[in-house]
Amino acid sequence: KYANYDPYKNSLVQYKKGEKTPYMLLAKTFDLIGKETGRLKSAEILLNTFRTIIALNPNDLLPAVYLCLARVAPDFEGIEFGIGEQILMKCISRSTELPLKKIKEVYEKKGDLGFVAQSRKGGQTMLVQPIKLTVERVFQTLKDIALASGSNSQETKQKLINFLLVNSQGCELLFLVRTLQCKLRIGLAEKTVLTSLAYALFLHSHRDKFLENPKKSKKIPFIKDESLFHAEQIFKTAYSELPSLEVIIPLCLEHGLEELPQKCILTPGIPVKPMLAKPTKGIREVLDRLSGLEFTCEYKYDGERAQIHLLQDQKVKIYSRNSIDCSEKYPDIVKLIPQIKKDHINSFVLDSEAVAFNPETKQILPFQVLSTRARKKVEEVDIKVQICLFVFDVLYINGESLLRKTLKERRVILENSFEQLEGKFLFAQRMDSNDIEDISNFLDEAVENNCEGLMVKTLAQNATYEPSKRSYRWLKIKKDYLDGLTDSLDLVPIGGYYGRGKRSGKYGGYLLACYDEDNEEYQAICKIGTGFSDQNLELFWQQLKEHIVPKKPQYYQEPNGKSKPDVWFAPCQVWEILAADLSISPVYPAGIGLVNSKKGIALRFPRFLKVREDKSPEQATNSRQVAEMFRNQKINYKIEEEDDSDF
Ligand code: ATP
Repeated sequence: KYANYDPYKNSLVQYKKGEKTPYMLLAKTFDLIGKETGRLKSAEILLNTFRTIIALNPNDLLPAVYLCLARVAPDFEGIEFGIGEQILMKCISRSTELPLKKIKEVYEKKGDLGFVAQSRKGGQTMLVQPIKLTVERVFQTLKDIALASGSNSQETKQKLINFLLVNSQGCELLFLVRTLQCKLRIGLAEKTVLTSLAYALFLHSHRDKFLENPKKSKKIPFIKDESLFHAEQIFKTAYSELPSLEVIIPLCLEHGLEELPQKCILTPGIPVKPMLAKPTKGIREVLDRLSGLEFTCEYKYDGERAQIHLLQDQKVKIYSRNSIDCSEKYPDIVKLIPQIKKDHINSFVLDSEAVAFNPETKQILPFQVLSTRARKKVEEVDIKVQICLFVFDVLYINGESLLRKTLKERRVILENSFEQLEGKFLFAQRMDSNDIEDISNFLDEAVENNCEGLMVKTLAQNATYEPSKRSYRWLKIKKDYLDGLTDSLDLVPIGGYYGRGKRSGKYGGYLLACYDEDNEEYQAICKIGTGFSDQNLELFWQQLKEHIVPKKPQYYQEPNGKSKPDVWFAPCQVWEILAADLSISPVYPAGIGLVNSKKGIALRFPRFLKVREDKSPEQATNSRQVAEMFRNQKINYKIEEEDDSDF
């Protein structure tokens, strides 16, 4: 019966089982979530919508999930989808018969094309009865828009957009326009979508049990029940190993969520979410954390993470840290593959760092040199900066996933399956010793060789590869920490302050935020105005003004007092920031409640380092990490004192 769930009334409405899910159900769900502030409430609304869709028409679940993520395909498929503002304005003008000039004017005031379209359409009388949009139709149309190519593609796209705009009703229009811009702007993070999905799939597998009680059948309150929590873990583990909703959703619907660990296995062509490392404050801390365990140290190279896949059909794919397909950016690496794999190898997944390399001096070059390479497609003849791949892991070989093997075992397989090639393909430099002096020397050597420091990894116990996890199995020691600085933070510019004097006509400073994963909100952490070149200031002015939102989004925690920015931006970029230290702050809300019940944490003397092209805003440094860095800073002062007495 819960098939007939109306997110507004939480009551039964007349949908028929088997009927295609109306897009209106999703649009109303988004509308409600946009008005909610609590993450749990949003997740609960979404859970019930997903359950409704499964009961109505399970085939609609996959497109519905994509629509919740404002995407039409996984990121790694590289389908460009966002429609530019100018085209969208033209389409809105055509479908509402409002002159383009007027649309631009209203847009300037409202700052959201969705609102512009909606306000106009409200006052329009329909001459023709609109077609009822379904989730399937909307998704397919969006996909057709994304895939339209060739000389008529602009026209085709505009026709398809027009079809959606003309036939949308009520709040459908607002969310369609925003989806066309790849942003729902309701603060619905991917994590919530996946949690709600996992719960809905679990409840579906156990529907007999949960439908016994008619009250439960209507609406499940979003309580962190033990079995639901377990279901979420199973789902997330599977999704980190094989982030493909196309595979996972049908698998769960058919076999039940519990079957995922057996059936959902790493596959070349689908990037695994990379394993991450915990920062440490130096060798002492590493030895404490890993005491009793066998471990290894590797150079921490300063380049770009590259996950290299050789598919069964011998196609090579390269994915970034963010799981974006960047194969076209590295034709030189693609060409290298037949030379470095041994003959018996017909498929693999490698984890590595691509580093700029000077073939004459045989030296590793700093990250700044690598960043001068083209960001997108490039022809091999145009490449000026040579790359050497430093491979540190193998995750799959000849049809077998190696994730559950220990690092020690994976290393043997790596060495038996590939040949090193001077200056192009090398195994990461390593040293297996737990002697403090050896490690210290190795760290110096790494820094002399233009590396960032060391990665220390467990070898035998607790040494499986854990996709997407940041655990104590991988620790990093960066040379910067040793200079008494904190690690850099990856933060999101959420607001801008108009510049004066030399910076007039641009933003003179920005409000930065970390991401709070528990509440799915951005929490302000500092203002910043230092470290920007003139080019950066100009570039950010141009880029960020496209992301201005008319008012502070509900999912932003702003600073107290006078630090309100002149404009707010939707989360769209991640910047790497270095600061002198972190301090408890009555003004900034970052990590509030984690180290002090009423106060947050602020950065002191922040300085801009670079844009993190390989991170999305939700991958910014999170509040727990900020709190951990604050605490470590305190511990570190103690450790440093101890260190002084020892040496
Ligand atoms: P995050 O941990 O949040 O991803 P980050 O992207 O800034 O932070 P770092 O903290 O600098 O990355 O450290 C992890 C990164 O170091 C890896 O993602 C990888 O790109 C790089 N790296 C370099 N050498 C190694 C190595 N030997 N083993 C694993 N990673 C390495």
